[in-house]
Amino acid sequence: MTGDKKPGTHTGQESMTAVLWFRNDLRLDDHEALCDLLVRHDAEVIPVYCIDARMFEPTELGFRKTGAYRAQFLIDALKDLRQSLQELGSDLVLLRGRPEVEVPRFAQRVGASEVGFFEEVTSEEMAVESALRQACQRQQIRATGYWGSTLYHVGDLPFYLEDLPDVFTQFRKKMESQPSIRAPMDRPSHMAPLPDWLDVGEMVGLEEFGFDEGASRVDARAAFQGVGGEQAALARVQEYFFELDTLRNYKQTRNGLIGANYSSKLSPWLALGNISPRRVFTEVKRYERERVSNRSTYWLVFELTWRDYFRFLAMSEGTKLFKLGGVKCTDYVWRRDQEVFSRWVNGMTGIPFIDANMRELACTGFMSNRGRQNVASYLAKSQCIDWRWGASYFESMLVDYDPCSNWGNWQYVSGVGNDPRDRRFNVVGQGERYDEEGKYIKMWVPELGGLPRDAIHAPWRYGESELQRRFGVVLGEDYPQPLEGPETKGAQQLRLA
Ligand SMILES: Cc1cc2nc3c(=O)[nH]c(=O)nc-3n(C[C@H](O)[C@H](O)[C@H](O)COP(=O)(O)OP(=O)(O)OC[C@H]3O[C@@H](n4cnc5c(N)ncnc54)[C@H](O)[C@@H]3O)c2cc1C
Repeated sequence: MTGDKKPGTHTGQESMTAVLWFRNDLRLDDHEALCDLLVRHDAEVIPVYCIDARMFEPTELGFRKTGAYRAQFLIDALKDLRQSLQELGSDLVLLRGRPEVEVPRFAQRVGASEVGFFEEVTSEEMAVESALRQACQRQQIRATGYWGSTLYHVGDLPFYLEDLPDVFTQFRKKMESQPSIRAPMDRPSHMAPLPDWLDVGEMVGLEEFGFDEGASRVDARAAFQGVGGEQAALARVQEYFFELDTLRNYKQTRNGLIGANYSSKLSPWLALGNISPRRVFTEVKRYERERVSNRSTYWLVFELTWRDYFRFLAMSEGTKLFKLGGVKCTDYVWRRDQEVFSRWVNGMTGIPFIDANMRELACTGFMSNRGRQNVASYLAKSQCIDWRWGASYFESMLVDYDPCSNWGNWQYVSGVGNDPRDRRFNVVGQGERYDEEGKYIKMWVPELGGLPRDAIHAPWRYGESELQRRFGVVLGEDYPQPLEGPETKGAQQLRLA
């Protein structure tokens, strides 16, 4: 907490008006900007969110920057935030347009002397932020940035950002060697009502973003079926940690592929700031006190530390995060083959484990971490396609898209980022290991449903006539022949047992 008064308690003096510009911090719990404006400045806070059409524009590759699944998740989160603010006596004002224009204009209209917001670290977001700061300055409105998206506060890093370790393990060890995770801040108990004359703006719907009704409908097989918003995020923590008691086995289950509970599924809420990593950490600690403290509880925090690492990396490397050569400035040669890319996107590469994962992503907006590593490695390392195409497609599709985690992980897997080893996944072997029975493949690639486990991961290794005679599958007709690549090279033909 940044002051010794409770948030939302007024002193009775004339208070100033401040605009709180919500971005990827759609929550009231552990919100430093909100607490600070309410307590330190004793401000009447007007919460706003600005719907920016640029987030939904088509990219050069032809798909939307934000696809329907994430758009729906955002809408749910905005509804939830508005309701929570109303319960405190306030409301959420929805503006439409460019935040760097609309937010300062709005601040002037309501006579605000300050605009507070959470700082972002990636180029597009920082450009908006910097233009907003300039516009505020012209109007003599103070613009104050806050930090709130990581487990470790940027101000507590035990090194200068330019000295950020190149390798995650070194970063983790440095962070773990000092007890510096700040306690989360309480949510305010009440807020001042908004002026009567203020139009809070209509809630947004999918059609406003140009999506058809039903475009965000998630397939019933989805591993992630959550809705956006702080309430759902907090409920998921309770469910995964305490009700189902699944956290105790997280380390063993986290490489799973099917179902809601092999991993926490907190990423979509973390990405939109519906819950803070510090709140998750505090709940892990409570779980350790009340239930068990083991490798699994440690590992969830370990993964949150990865998330931090990519954020700090993005901050220190700037636009290199989005550059072909990556943070390592490599000069690898990449292909730009539209047909191969489109077969990858559509789950038609002919490698069943890859296709199952890509189809899951297209039908649900989610894919497991194991799946993401494999499909990324397949595109970038087996097919040598420009890894940024894959990252850009993920950006459109993922319900949990986060620029730092997405582009950072893509670089890592593609060998242009912070992996000291430059590896290619054996994607067939990975399928055999993590989907031993082929259940996951059968779930998403039903045309291979009749194949036994020794044929389902690499059907091309078996004689065509045998596949057709015994299982009625004709490669090239019922399911594609595999794209040429390391997976198909040197494969001798096998006979089914
Ligand atoms: C190519 C690729 C792209 C990715 N893109 C994204 C992305 O856009 N957004 C995103 O949140 N994650 C991304 N990840 C990381 C990871 O796959 C997801 O965070 C994870 O699958 C989300 O599921 P979960 O919440 O159940 O994870 P859990 O296993 O329960 O982990 C808990 C939390 O730790 C964090 N985390 C776990 N693994 C990673 C990781 N490798 N990197 C960074 N943070 C991690 C996430 O916040 C996650 O919610 C990507 C990974 C790869 C390989």
